[in-house]
Amino acid sequence: MKCLECNNELSYIDHKNAMELFGLELCSQHTQRMEKLMRRNGTPLEAVQLYYGLKAAGVHPMLEWWDGNKSIDIAVSRVKLNIEIDTEYQMLTHEQAINELEETMHSYKNGFTTIRIPHILIKHYLQETVNNIMGIIEGLRINIKVI
Ligand SMILES: [Zn+2]
Repeated sequence: MKCLECNNELSYIDHKNAMELFGLELCSQHTQRMEKLMRRNGTPLEAVQLYYGLKAAGVHPMLEWWDGNKSIDIAVSRVKLNIEIDTEYQMLTHEQAINELEETMHSYKNGFTTIRIPHILIKHYLQETVNNIMGIIEGLRINIKVI
């Protein structure tokens, strides 16, 4: 059992703590850092799980990337892909929906692609979600080359 961030060997108690908090193997130092980052940004747990899922698949994602206006849950800068995790989509009002569409429009204008992923997808289909995002990254990479 090793920390996903620093590769340090985990003690039984560190492992237990991190698994209970995130379902991920992190040392006490990186558990603390992650809790701090999540508290500061209101990061959903599923964003953290997807972040490590993508890392394990060989992607270099960034968690809570500041785009100049707001913090993006997960960004893959190489292909200008922004990933937002939706946690309250059931309560989406029309104001929120039009704001999201406007944000998406602005990000496209700046050359970014934004995808929104419901948090339940990560809970139930993490690997499939990662596989699909890998496909999106591959598609974006090819399109960037063409341009
Ligand atoms: Zn660590």
